[in-house]
Amino acid sequence: MPIYEYVCDDCGEHYERIVFNQKTEVTCPKCDSGKHTIQLSVFAAPANGAKASGGGSPAPSGGGCCGGSCGCH
Ligand SMILES: [Zn+2]
Repeated sequence: MPIYEYVCDDCGEHYERIVFNQKTEVTCPKCDSGKHTIQLSVFAAPANGAKASGGGSPAPSGGGCCGGSCGCH
């Protein structure tokens, strides 16, 4: 869910609000003013970490069939 950080235009108080929709009324907790400037929005974004997908061992080749035991010639 988006968390917006506001700065009150009247008293300069910084506060955060979780905003579920655009109609959510946000007022300053300090002076109760409705005038504010949105500073930034913080999303709980997952870090784009690289997946450690190692272990690309090649398929075992040779041996088995055509090794002379199955007689594919
Ligand atoms: Zn204020």
